Amino acid sequence: MLKQRAYNFNAGPAALPLAVLEKAQKEFVDFQGTGMSVMELSHRSATYEDVHNQAIARLKSLLSIPDQYEVLFLQGGASLQFSMIPMNFLSSGRQAGYIMTGSWSEKAFEEATLFGEPYHVASTKENHYRSIPELNKLKYNKNDAYIHVTSNNTIYGTQWKTFPQTGDVPLIADMSSDILSRPIDVNQFGLIYAGAQKNLGPAGVTVVIIRKDMLEKANTAIPTMLQYSTHAEKNSLYHTPPTFGIYMLGEVLAWIEEQGGIDAITKRNEGKAKIIYDTIDQSNGFYIGHAEKDSRSLMNITFRLQNEELEKEFLTKAKEEGFVGLNGHRSVGGCRASTYNAVPFEACTALCHFMIDFQRKHG
Ligand SMILES: *Cc1c(COP(=O)(O)O)cnc(C)c1O
Repeated sequence: MLKQRAYNFNAGPAALPLAVLEKAQKEFVDFQGTGMSVMELSHRSATYEDVHNQAIARLKSLLSIPDQYEVLFLQGGASLQFSMIPMNFLSSGRQAGYIMTGSWSEKAFEEATLFGEPYHVASTKENHYRSIPELNKLKYNKNDAYIHVTSNNTIYGTQWKTFPQTGDVPLIADMSSDILSRPIDVNQFGLIYAGAQKNLGPAGVTVVIIRKDMLEKANTAIPTMLQYSTHAEKNSLYHTPPTFGIYMLGEVLAWIEEQGGIDAITKRNEGKAKIIYDTIDQSNGFYIGHAEKDSRSLMNITFRLQNEELEKEFLTKAKEEGFVGLNGHRSVGGCRASTYNAVPFEACTALCHFMIDFQRKHG
């Protein structure tokens, strides 16, 4: 018998669907009658290639990715994308606009300063990153190499609802913490990237969705491994890919299909977030949400209690009751519940009950 699963609200690496873990367990030492684990297969074998191509096909279908885009499986996390993007698309003297909505935007921006002239299109830092900038306040240059946004701010708990229309300037988005949590129009973007370990699978794989014309305008005087075209030309098999991670990612995508696809997942995510935000809003100030209401994230719900002592007690008690990962990011403190796709509704209901009960005893 399985021990009861934890109520896992980790920000990343994060919860995976139990059904996927159980299937992987079943296939662990003998994948499809090969007498080998997926990890032991050659990445040049037909069996592995099938796993690889199915994962790509599933992602294309779930996100309705048009034919003029390539799906790449890279390594180095979203953090390496912070560097690869300016390396490929910026050059000395060239500008790129960054919309600053939190710590991950700041990190992405810093990398770009090494290769060109990035600037802030807008920033909500003064407001402690409680909100997403208003679309009509965004001012950028028509000659920019690209505009960069962070679609969901994992640490502050804010999320873009509508993305800016940037015309001929390619829009690049870090979707590490909300990819596949809701429908997006891929056509709006020149490049989308996401580390897998929040909403797609285990750590070790990074998904890049890149429009083919971006490949043509990329710099070629950079290391082979850091050129997008190297990986695009070889279907992400230029070198050994993280095969087990890609297999797991494919299984997570199959699970999303079984749940009814992206629309069904979106509905469930909205429901999960709503009951927690309602608990915060109906607590008469016992719980204080960090994000402004119209910028609230469906994936990372950030809140505080009236003082640090009470927060500490809340987190200790929560841990005792089997809730994992409710601490805010070490840079901001407070509390955070990450409610990614694989976090079950029941875990969110249990959290609400716990929060109401804790307030009753300490309010
Ligand atoms: C977690 C996260 C990152 C960093 O991802 P790594 O894979 O650890 O490099 C970057 N951006 C966002 C929005 C994140 O949530």
